[in-house]
Amino acid sequence: MVVTPDAILKQAAEQQVEFVSLQYTDIVGMVKNVTIPISELPDCLDHGVWFDGSSLEGFARVAESDMYLAPDLDTFAVIPWDAAAGFTTARMICDVRTPDGKSFAGDPRYALRRALDAARRMGMTFLVGPEVEFFLFRSGDDGRPALIPHDAAGYFDATTDAATHIRRRMVRALAAFGIDVEATHHEGALGQHEIDLRHTHGLRAADHLVTTRATLKAIAQQHNLYATFMPKPIGGVNGNGLHMHLSLADAESGMNLFFNGDDSYGLSKLARHFVAGLLAHARGMIAVLAPLVNSYKRLVPGFEAPVYLIWGRTNRAQLVRVPRISAARPQSARVELRCPDPSCNPYLALAVILCAGLDGIRRELPLPPPVEEDLFQVDLRARQFDVLPATLGVALEELQRDEVVTEALGPHILERFVEARTREWEEYSRFISQWELDRYLPVY
Ligand code: MG
Repeated sequence: MVVTPDAILKQAAEQQVEFVSLQYTDIVGMVKNVTIPISELPDCLDHGVWFDGSSLEGFARVAESDMYLAPDLDTFAVIPWDAAAGFTTARMICDVRTPDGKSFAGDPRYALRRALDAARRMGMTFLVGPEVEFFLFRSGDDGRPALIPHDAAGYFDATTDAATHIRRRMVRALAAFGIDVEATHHEGALGQHEIDLRHTHGLRAADHLVTTRATLKAIAQQHNLYATFMPKPIGGVNGNGLHMHLSLADAESGMNLFFNGDDSYGLSKLARHFVAGLLAHARGMIAVLAPLVNSYKRLVPGFEAPVYLIWGRTNRAQLVRVPRISAARPQSARVELRCPDPSCNPYLALAVILCAGLDGIRRELPLPPPVEEDLFQVDLRARQFDVLPATLGVALEELQRDEVVTEALGPHILERFVEARTREWEEYSRFISQWELDRYLPVY
């Protein structure tokens, strides 16, 4: 169903909306917003809203400062937690345009649209189902997050899981935004949780992810808790992943193109090339999928996060896992990419993932044999697997060498992304940590 401006105005009046928050995402994945009173909404739906883009780090240069926000009508939704403060506020996610009405090269949503268009030209739709992991920490006396897990439960625990009700409130709030949740459960570490979103097409999945992060933080706050998507907040236990379940469907018929019942893994030739593309570009795209200094502390052996550039069904250290599906449900054939973490910019992440997979399809890249858990140690000794970069510094170098990934971002975003992250990496490299002092000062 196509949503019209009139339908939105009618809905806004019915729900007594007073303010509309116009949202977009900057290059590093932060949600930004401009709020307009409801009286401005008709104009905004007609022409968009002007804003000064130069105030945003990494977004626009002074010369390109005047931009406008063009709201995506499908994303109109009342923000459920604002009502508690006595306001009815709706939000709309926007595309960023230049004064002459063109898509802005620095808009991450546009980078994803370009990748989705490339798939469409090949007759395919990109479907994504994300698994969002996060920690709930208590807030300290000063109101800042403390590193104290909210509960003492473990993987799938029910009885000791104090957050069951909080997660249900989160699911309810997500539903208000039209985000369908497939499942939610406690994750492996203390205070760690997971919410699995139902698969949807790529652009909507990215929209859902930015909304999900904001929603979970808001609901946690209502319970005096702090929800964090930091990739590895606590050393020695699992970190937060953002596993992406990926598939391609025929753009006309909607038929899943990844399924082949005759294949031992249930994968079509196309799916195998797609996975080969993911493996081939993993080193090049990891800086986008795991963009923080801290992300690389998650990507180490022993914590169910991937390290090796391998694929299979059972090994949690694999980069790509192929979930088992029942033969009766070929539509659910998919592959799970395990390296992204929830600190990424979802638009840029899905853009580079899709372009990597499409490159595998275009070049018909061969997929190496799978590696399963029971063979893992043997294989590790017998052959050296390629690994993901161990630091953000190396990842940024690899990114700049990968033509498919750099093209997916486009020169504007690439330059600013690399600039922002390199600055962070250099700052970290100059920092002397407590670990170094404890370890070296008494000895040397
Ligand atoms: Mg999980």
